[in-house]
Amino acid sequence: MTRCLEYSKNLTCWFEMILSEHFGHSFKIKFIDNDILSLSLNESSRSITFHADATTFMRADSNLAIAEWDADTEEWQSILGSPLPAPGATFLPYPLITKTDQGMNIAYDILGLTYWMLSRQEEVGRTDLDEHGRFPATASHAFKHGYLERPVVDEWLYILGQVIKRVWPFIQLKQHAFSIKVSHDVDSPSLYTFKPWGTIARMMAGHLLKRHDVCAFLQAPFVKLASRSLIHPTDPFNTFEWIMDQSDRHGLTSAFYFICGHSDPLDADYHLEDPRIRNLLRRIHARGHEIGLHPSYGSYQAPGLIRQETDRLHRICAEEGIQQSKWGGRMHYLRWEQPGTMQAWSDAGMSYDSTLGYADRPGFRCGTCFEYPAFNPMTQQILPLRIRPLVMMECSVIDDVYLGLGTGQVAMDKVRSLRHACQCVGGCFTLLWHNSQLSDESRRSMYVEALA
Ligand SMILES: [Zn+2]
Repeated sequence: MTRCLEYSKNLTCWFEMILSEHFGHSFKIKFIDNDILSLSLNESSRSITFHADATTFMRADSNLAIAEWDADTEEWQSILGSPLPAPGATFLPYPLITKTDQGMNIAYDILGLTYWMLSRQEEVGRTDLDEHGRFPATASHAFKHGYLERPVVDEWLYILGQVIKRVWPFIQLKQHAFSIKVSHDVDSPSLYTFKPWGTIARMMAGHLLKRHDVCAFLQAPFVKLASRSLIHPTDPFNTFEWIMDQSDRHGLTSAFYFICGHSDPLDADYHLEDPRIRNLLRRIHARGHEIGLHPSYGSYQAPGLIRQETDRLHRICAEEGIQQSKWGGRMHYLRWEQPGTMQAWSDAGMSYDSTLGYADRPGFRCGTCFEYPAFNPMTQQILPLRIRPLVMMECSVIDDVYLGLGTGQVAMDKVRSLRHACQCVGGCFTLLWHNSQLSDESRRSMYVEALA
């Protein structure tokens, strides 16, 4: 008989961390048999057991089976409505949750699912990537089986919370409050300031001859000339003050992630050392908002570059008197190779990363809308880095190359439904909106409504 795969010691420690963060109690997890995991609490003799399915959840592909479970028929409560998708299971017994002498048994590996989704084990070594080398939503198990827009791990942890309450009725579980985090990748802080005059001339010709927009035709050279020490307020991409006003109104902190390297023509046209960018950094900091890193296009497989670009951001910020307790950010173009890019963020000493959402579809790439400690699925190490999953980037919903919903009612319904899913589980709706994607009224009103 072949021995089943087992979860590593580090992984069971990581499970304990996740459960402690989620429920506010220090559960102990141990194997009591080859494939039975037990969850216990302090000195209590009671426990919850699971059938651990490491053979399934250590797989790095998207061809796992899927079953469904109707919580209501067993008198459990599903937070987003039944049935719950159960990735990895071909069949689930009825009833799924049964009483045992010591407590209860769950015949589905909720912790295995948590590992598989949060560690992005699914993406390790994948070659079915898009033109930017990214693992696309459309290749994922979640998309193929229609649960990408559900925080499936949080939904299953909600079930586990109910089981915990039945086994230990007197403990209080941690309550989570819904939150919103907005961030802005600064690919283009200005439409005109950093472009050479030859490009400005071509843009002017386009404004006049193609779009017959005399206003924009005159604005281009004016903004270029008037942006000697500051990016001029009339620059269409200079939406920073407006963004911070919106965040202030809602009690939010905006995080602005700056490109600090140039490894490809798809990187930014500004340099962090430019006095106008230094001014912008100081202004963001003075208004109480956050500055972070947006590593260059070619850095996702180059840990040395991520380190260099981190050091450059720290150096310039220190020169400007900018101090922050945490430094985080997001990869340019959401380029990410699991686990190398994550390890590089961790090795560069960053506090958190917020790349893990898909460009081609909004939703829950990691199956959760809670921040969590990173775990390297190759080395099986817990990393001192927090993963802050990205739920939605504006262009994933709006742009024709992605979901293509535009900026009308259908797009807004999509935003509302994603935010509602985060609200139901008490998680965090993380929204990426580029400063350069707020120059027209329809996008601005969509952004305002997304925060409302
Ligand atoms: Zn970018």
